[in-house]
Amino acid sequence: MLFNQLGLSAELLRAVDEQGYEKATPIQQQAIPLILAGRDLLAGAQTGTGKTAGFTLPLLHRLQHGTENRRSVRALVLTPTRELAAQVGESVRDYGSHLPFRTAVIYGGVSINTQIDKLRKGVDVIVATPGRLLDHLQKGTVDLRAIEVLVLDEADRMLDMGFIRDIKKIMKVLPKKRQNLLFSATFSKDIRQLAAELLNSPTEIQVAVNGKPAEGIDQVVYPVDKDRKRELLSYRIGREDWRQVLVFMRTKHGANRLAKQLEEDGLTCAAIHGNKSQSARIRALQDFKSGKIRVLVATDVAARGLDIEKLPHVVNFELPFVAEDYVHRIGRTARAGNQGHAISLVCVDEKNLLADIEKLLQTNIRKEVVDGFEPDPRIKAEAISRGRGQQRPQKKRGAGQQTRGGQPNSRRSGPPKKPAGGRRRSSGRQRRAS
Ligand code: AMP
Repeated sequence: MLFNQLGLSAELLRAVDEQGYEKATPIQQQAIPLILAGRDLLAGAQTGTGKTAGFTLPLLHRLQHGTENRRSVRALVLTPTRELAAQVGESVRDYGSHLPFRTAVIYGGVSINTQIDKLRKGVDVIVATPGRLLDHLQKGTVDLRAIEVLVLDEADRMLDMGFIRDIKKIMKVLPKKRQNLLFSATFSKDIRQLAAELLNSPTEIQVAVNGKPAEGIDQVVYPVDKDRKRELLSYRIGREDWRQVLVFMRTKHGANRLAKQLEEDGLTCAAIHGNKSQSARIRALQDFKSGKIRVLVATDVAARGLDIEKLPHVVNFELPFVAEDYVHRIGRTARAGNQGHAISLVCVDEKNLLADIEKLLQTNIRKEVVDGFEPDPRIKAEAISRGRGQQRPQKKRGAGQQTRGGQPNSRRSGPPKKPAGGRRRSSGRQRRAS
């Protein structure tokens, strides 16, 4: 579903467009209309689902169309950690970049005076961790009596971190008539109890839990050198006669290049990503669905929300930097109880990304070395001597190691027809907009 079908204002749609989002994520599709309608919400969604935009966009819309003009704090978002507060604050500023609202991010560990100055000048939205917000309440440096919308983000983590008493103290100073939105990855007994106390006839919504791909997906990792991935992919598609394959790349540029190379290998193919016009994307998707093209190469953003009935094969040509994206990607297959096949071509540089994914999944993915595509031990040694096991930007290193060949050669196939002559290419970097 496109954002402009959700009832958001032109200013917000413009900001969404600037973020490069194409379609609303499932949680956004569900949450935005309900919040715009003024409902209280109990929402089951984890980080990575697009939940922040899911509550921030309609929240800003409501502030924009509310009757209150005086500068007062009208929306409060509580988060468990400083990092999350900073991140949500940034999202509020991004999505509200064409609106006149001011946002304050309030958390501990930094000077309270700077925050007091900011609050004194007047803000419309506060994103805060509970402890520091209470400090301000006790000092009388914040006034929450005009709050119209309250969001508890990652409420389960807030309870785990022992914030329940702080939250209850904050609740006491809020006006009775307000909209309440509770987001939580899990619905434990404690969360249900908090929801019962806090929410007013809430609507409950939930999106698929991250880290738990559908049961029917057969996942396999093919360890392979980076410059032989394309050759291996073409070989598997041809040899096993895959008819409909969705291939994930990290970058638009990489997607274009791979699509071109696969065409050269004789496969009908198209690429979809943010730089393609809407009509080109629709056409590619139609051709893919109808079987006119066999391979669709996509970036994560372009593929989000793609719904292709009974898609049999998903290939991670490159592993995503964010482990949750792996679950999103492979979730394109085995939908609605169907069987699906998810293949990851993993080179030595990606071993830490794989370890992150396996940690998230809490399982080891089966590894199969394909005959004739065994990774070159010299490349592995070179990577170790470079001290580089990944290309993930700005994230702490995963601790695990990729174990190559968990069940080596269990489905060996004949050697490739083509010699290993792949040129070495770098895959480029892409950070998700966050
Ligand atoms: P969140 O679950 O709110 O932490 O968001 C996860 C990531 O998804 C962030 O990097 C957002 O910028 C991104 N995101 C949110 N909504 C969309 C969308 N509709 N399309 C693509 N990316 C999105």
